[in-house]
Amino acid sequence: MTVTRRGVLQAATVVSAATAFGGLPAVTARAAAAAPAADALTRLPVGSITAHGWLAEQLKIQLAGLCGRYAETSHFLVMDTCGWVHPELGGWEELPYWLRGFVPLAIATRDADALATCERWIDAILATQEADGFFGPRALRTSLNGGPDFWPFLPLLMALRTYQEYTHDERIVPFLTRFLTFMEAQDKGAFDSSWVSVRWGDGIDTARWLYERTGDAFLDSLVDKMHRYGADWTGDLPTPHNVNIAQGFREPAQYAQWADGDTDALVRATYRTYEQVLRDYGQFPGGGIAGDENVRPGFGDPRQGFETCGIVEFMASHELLTRLTGDPVWADRCEDLAFNMLPAALDPQGRAIHYVTSANSVDLDNSRKTEGQFQNGFAMQSYLPGVDQYRCCPHNYGMGWPYFTEELWLATPDGGLAAALYAPSEVKTRIGNATVTVREETDYPFDETVTLTVSVDKPVAFPLRLRVPGWCDKPRLAVNGRTVKAGSGPVFAEVRRTWKDGDKVTLRLPQRTTLRTWSGNHDSVSVDHGPLTYSLKIAEKYVRTGGSGTFPEYDVHAASAWNYGLVPGSSPELRRRPGPLPANPFTLDGTPLTLAARARRLPEWIADDEHVVAPLQPSPARSRAGVETVTLVPMGAARLRITSFPTAAPDGHPWTPEPPYRRIENKHSGKVLAVDSMSTADDARVVQFDNSGTGDHAWQLLDAGSGRLRIRNGQSGKFLAVEGSSTADSARVVQFEDNGRPDLLWTRVEQGDGWFLLRNEHSGKVLGVDGMSTNNSAQVVQFADNGTEDHLWRLPS
Ligand SMILES: [Zn+2]
Repeated sequence: MTVTRRGVLQAATVVSAATAFGGLPAVTARAAAAAPAADALTRLPVGSITAHGWLAEQLKIQLAGLCGRYAETSHFLVMDTCGWVHPELGGWEELPYWLRGFVPLAIATRDADALATCERWIDAILATQEADGFFGPRALRTSLNGGPDFWPFLPLLMALRTYQEYTHDERIVPFLTRFLTFMEAQDKGAFDSSWVSVRWGDGIDTARWLYERTGDAFLDSLVDKMHRYGADWTGDLPTPHNVNIAQGFREPAQYAQWADGDTDALVRATYRTYEQVLRDYGQFPGGGIAGDENVRPGFGDPRQGFETCGIVEFMASHELLTRLTGDPVWADRCEDLAFNMLPAALDPQGRAIHYVTSANSVDLDNSRKTEGQFQNGFAMQSYLPGVDQYRCCPHNYGMGWPYFTEELWLATPDGGLAAALYAPSEVKTRIGNATVTVREETDYPFDETVTLTVSVDKPVAFPLRLRVPGWCDKPRLAVNGRTVKAGSGPVFAEVRRTWKDGDKVTLRLPQRTTLRTWSGNHDSVSVDHGPLTYSLKIAEKYVRTGGSGTFPEYDVHAASAWNYGLVPGSSPELRRRPGPLPANPFTLDGTPLTLAARARRLPEWIADDEHVVAPLQPSPARSRAGVETVTLVPMGAARLRITSFPTAAPDGHPWTPEPPYRRIENKHSGKVLAVDSMSTADDARVVQFDNSGTGDHAWQLLDAGSGRLRIRNGQSGKFLAVEGSSTADSARVVQFEDNGRPDLLWTRVEQGDGWFLLRNEHSGKVLGVDGMSTNNSAQVVQFADNGTEDHLWRLPS
């Protein structure tokens, strides 16, 4: 008997259904046919699921807020001047991003005006298709290596798919077929560079969607090109960019469905990349990574931010992987981001957004940070409409809640339903020849009970699977009051029966308060209760800085102390406010849940002179302050927050206040010490440059004992050093990691007038500029102390 991979998967699902989908599905060889292997769970047609309760409120806020009204202020979304409608004009990712979120938002809210807006855009976009299948801004035909740049098309293709699923518009499948045929005809150069090369997972997803509708063999060849020429996501990270990582890492698992041979290895690569990235850059709660905007080795403190695009792309990836693998761990990861980070990326009214969200963040202002605190050098924290300043995030964030809504319920391959994510909702579908509606009543994640009421027009047998999250080890499941066995999470519990109208399923997911210790971040501690992670409640002072009534702009400043460490060994205590769940629980006033925690102030833990919280130091930290009771709130409700806490005790490690970062100015040239091209690499050249405010111009003078200094760069975290530990005149000065080499040590020799020499411990030579150049990017070197003016430096105020 020939067993196709699709057949194997389905059989495996049936057999293991009563236990779990935990771990990898047991996949083997691919079928001889071109058909990609089936997902373990499949999405229901868009529109099958209706949000209720708090989730409906989030969608409503989004429709009435930035996403729903963005075309009123974003010049990228003006139909008369948009290249996606007028191909002779320019266009890039902004309209595709926005439409990808706006279409499912319109559907999820059933808003007639929004649906009409979708129709207008899509009619206009479809009308731009040319004879060879290309559509949209004509300049994109030749803008990458002389050929087409497909990146901005990928999110737009997703918007068209969503629209087709809801409206059954008959133009879209042929339109996509023509465009993907055009794609397939391109050569390597259209696949192997720029943004698109690391984001082909999105392309594979659309090819797959189309394959399910047409079965066209050319899609197999297209997917093969995407994988073969696209970035390799099976080994080391091909890109440090947070959004690329969030959407790119799943590509091997997606390609595995089309591949022959060791497809398990491809799926494992996706798991491994996720785990490595979180290990290296995600050592704090909330489910995100230190990606502000590229990840940087050595910059994993919880003050680092995750881009809003990264949040929603990671969520979408986790949703896709929940379906592809059937592994509930991906749904856990999606909920982590959805409940803890996504709401915090927006102002509480949903009318403004910021670019990065951090686990520890004590001030949100609109100033550029110049000391290398964030990898990216523009102001990223204030809540703004951000049309040009933030550009991608405010256009892209819209898919977050609508996609989440679509993924609450999935179909199982054996004709059943799976509750993959939890929120108040209703799903309506057909099973066999019965119409089935399941109404989900819950205040989850703010409560622990999910009640399902099944409505059927005739009795019908199907399996109902319910995700037990990884944090839950003692679920209680009952059908019409009778207990059903359910295992510890992460797992899908299952009920198989003939369902009758009015059947009730109750799933209780007991939530406990637990602490996580982050050994990768100085043994800091975070507090969880069920799926919510908790942050110190900081009084938030909103200061309106501009904008309009519809699109206000806000800074948020701390109006209470935030520098607390938790008392080691103490367990925070949950407090629940009685009464119905407020419409928007993701606010300081709205959350019904708080925790009372015991803490001590750490007076030495301060924000820097640009209002960014200083990095953590080893726990327990020394504090002789008295114990206080502080309030913790869900992270998603806190726009300012400390979420990764040091612990604090009277006999802890002394906390050294973070030394300031300074510019180091050359007397001869007037330029400042910098790192060539803002590199973060070892042996990158140290140069002089105009004081233009970038983080590589910031240096921290650290006391190394005996009057010596180590000089650390703000952008790279590396130290001023001499190339190859040379002792020669004119040897190049570079940056290098702190490896104990003596050439990393310098002595500041004061000249009495504010200027000083920097003498190298190893060579005895002093810091100067090669050839006494006064040019930008001139090499900084060491040289014998011969009294020239380029050897003199100062710290300008
Ligand atoms: Zn973005």
